[in-house]
Amino acid sequence: MSKLRVATVWLSGCAGCHMSFLDLDEHLLDLAKAMELVYSPIADIKEFPEGVELVLVEGAVANSDNLTMARQVRQRSKAVVSFGDCAVTGSVPSLRNPLAVSDLLDTVYHEEGPGKVAKDGETDGMLPELLTRVLPLHHVINVDAFIPGCPPDPERIWVAVNALLNGESVQLSEEMRRFG
Ligand code: SF4
Repeated sequence: MSKLRVATVWLSGCAGCHMSFLDLDEHLLDLAKAMELVYSPIADIKEFPEGVELVLVEGAVANSDNLTMARQVRQRSKAVVSFGDCAVTGSVPSLRNPLAVSDLLDTVYHEEGPGKVAKDGETDGMLPELLTRVLPLHHVINVDAFIPGCPPDPERIWVAVNALLNGESVQLSEEMRRFG
């Protein structure tokens, strides 16, 4: 039996959702029998591949790199799961939304920054451009399912992922949406 091609992606989040995934503990051994991890910050693979069957996306969409990655993930994946509160609602990264990007950069680099490392325009090419607002993933691309939580409970992750690994592709969507 061929293994399911699974990926995980880390946008603007704290990696806590990935840590919760690793807290599946012995379930990870079961997963390893049924899936092949083809892209993940855990595996440090550089290029998001074609033909991904299931991808869990952690983090909100906060900058131009996140946006490019989210679109690429959608193009190359069959099922996209919004993984954790930052992806589902924007959560912690979206706390900066009341601030203008210019005010934010000014505060970080000119007033509060370590050694005032950048002046106006000097961040060009150094940092991905910040979006004017931090967005939940489904505001940017179509999402097939949601796993909320900060971070999502490992048992919740297991129920959702295990359903797909058992071939319950239609039920999976329904089951996962129950958490949304
Ligand atoms: Fe971190 Fe919580 Fe956001 Fe996950 S949902 S990336 S644990 S802040």
